[in-house]
Amino acid sequence: MSDGFVTLAEIEKARTAIGETVRRTFVDGSPSLTEMAGVPVHLKLEHQQITGSFKLRGASNAIAQLTDAEKARGVVGVSTGNHGRGLAYAARAAGVRCIICMSKLVPQAKIDGIMAQGAEVRIVGRSQDEAQEEVDRLVADEGMTMIPPFDHRAIIAGQGTLGLELVEQVPDLGTVLVPLSGGGLICGVAAAVKAKKPGAKIVGISMERGAAMHACLRAGRPVAVEELPTLADSLGGGIGLDNRHTFAMTRALVDDVVLLDEAEIARAIRHAYRQERQIVEGSGAVGIGALLAGTVNSSGPVVAILSGGNIDMDQHARIVAGEDVDVAREAA
Ligand SMILES: *Cc1c(COP(=O)(O)O)cnc(C)c1O
Repeated sequence: MSDGFVTLAEIEKARTAIGETVRRTFVDGSPSLTEMAGVPVHLKLEHQQITGSFKLRGASNAIAQLTDAEKARGVVGVSTGNHGRGLAYAARAAGVRCIICMSKLVPQAKIDGIMAQGAEVRIVGRSQDEAQEEVDRLVADEGMTMIPPFDHRAIIAGQGTLGLELVEQVPDLGTVLVPLSGGGLICGVAAAVKAKKPGAKIVGISMERGAAMHACLRAGRPVAVEELPTLADSLGGGIGLDNRHTFAMTRALVDDVVLLDEAEIARAIRHAYRQERQIVEGSGAVGIGALLAGTVNSSGPVVAILSGGNIDMDQHARIVAGEDVDVAREAA
């Protein structure tokens, strides 16, 4: 393993650092998926994490690692989704100022979600790029620290704490199904799980519509991938052409990547609700989707990480009612 990879020691340190802020989420067996898969299937209920996703783990650890001077100057971010929520909450818990910059195009519900966690919201420009320019200005002029969503050692180590919990909760685990976007979650989980259980398999699950890491693994280097509307909206976006950590770690530590189409993601949300009685967002349900589609070759007990629950409840109601929700058509 190359020296650059996030280590078990960093993940264990993260666990101590964030223990007071994050919840140790439950693992539950799934009788219906167990019967279907022919091996024991467990669900890691991380959508029940505070702020509704695992992103709180990484954000809390990144803030814990700041110096006192950096804490005094505050943190900034551009994410309007789960990372933004996690960062806002973690900052408030640590008594650190947090500004989330976003463009005028961001829907009010997302702005409200971030503000509800106590962050300052700055609306600038008409694109993500213009919002990023404001972040760069706050970093340059006010000495604030930008906390990125995945390609950062402290973020990866924080997400890895979920992997440490898993090996304790399911000691005989054979395969872990991990929703995959920029790779912070899967790299942290893989580093933790493989350090403790070298034989375990780690499988990443993305959507067909804009699977950035999958395209990069194919190309053998980070490449630009078009972002498309999808039910797995927390999995959208690129990995960064100057990716420093997650591309190399994913390539080395992840055994397989599986892609799901929109109908399979909808089916997974529906299954989570009707069979498991859990409200899970599309991105969080892809592990279930892969099991339902029969596309993973899973050995031994399987754990699917339900990574988040922040779904628009009207959209959720339509999906579980069996309506054919086509986000591509609705975005057009
Ligand atoms: C961010 C996110 C992911 C993907 O995490 P990465 O670290 O970017 O791979 C998966 N599920 C949910 C709910 C998320 O918010």
